[in-house]
Amino acid sequence: MLIGPQISPVDELIATNLQALRAEIAAAAASAHRTVDSITLVAVSKGHGAERVRAAAARGVTNFGESYLQEALPKIDALRELALSWHFIGRIQANKSAAIAKSFDWVHGVDRLKVAERLSAQRPHYAPPLQLCIQVNIAGERGKAGVEPASASELARSVGALPRLTLRGLMCILPAGQSAQDNRHAFHALALLLQQINARGGALDSLSMGMSSDYREAIQQGATLIRVGTAIFGPRPSDQDP
Ligand SMILES: *Cc1c(COP(=O)(O)O)cnc(C)c1O
Repeated sequence: MLIGPQISPVDELIATNLQALRAEIAAAAASAHRTVDSITLVAVSKGHGAERVRAAAARGVTNFGESYLQEALPKIDALRELALSWHFIGRIQANKSAAIAKSFDWVHGVDRLKVAERLSAQRPHYAPPLQLCIQVNIAGERGKAGVEPASASELARSVGALPRLTLRGLMCILPAGQSAQDNRHAFHALALLLQQINARGGALDSLSMGMSSDYREAIQQGATLIRVGTAIFGPRPSDQDP
């Protein structure tokens, strides 16, 4: 009888979930005539401990998303030797921007020039440029984060000129509970906006869109970064989402 290293039930669940997710991603990519290599999985580990990140990393995941700085920093520290890429996907509070600029590789939720300017000024010189996505309120939700679609192009031009950042693309979060059809429409609108910005001289290559419930539609519409938490790690133990 072979006795291997102990595999915990949680590790096993993450492995099973990742296998299923990767099959779904491959199917969605194939149906859109895209290669799986054009889609980066950002595993959203907010609410879960470093050991679960380690379990996903052991299964080949290299990009992780976090929404809360205080929660993220100890994980980033604990897993430094794995050389993972960390994506900040939460709200950027002014007093947290320096730590975000120092500890993360990507920031997805920038919707104001002032925040981008601060991140650029605070990005340490020993680090490569911070990779950035501008968040767009693509569904026009009242009171929600994101620049209005009509202002995205101008913001992209200003952010793109900042020295310590590389503007990579656009990001959106859709209203919960929409139909797949509405999701497709909104993702398509974000993809068109990116094309328009590029037609006016932009060089954006990233669309950060799609979560556990809607990543298939996002892939169909051109997502290059999907941010998936629950479908990998299961429900978050203490959901701090607003
Ligand atoms: C939490 C979160 C996700 C992941 O959501 P799931 O439904 O768990 O996949 C993706 N993007 C953002 C911005 C989030 O806050």
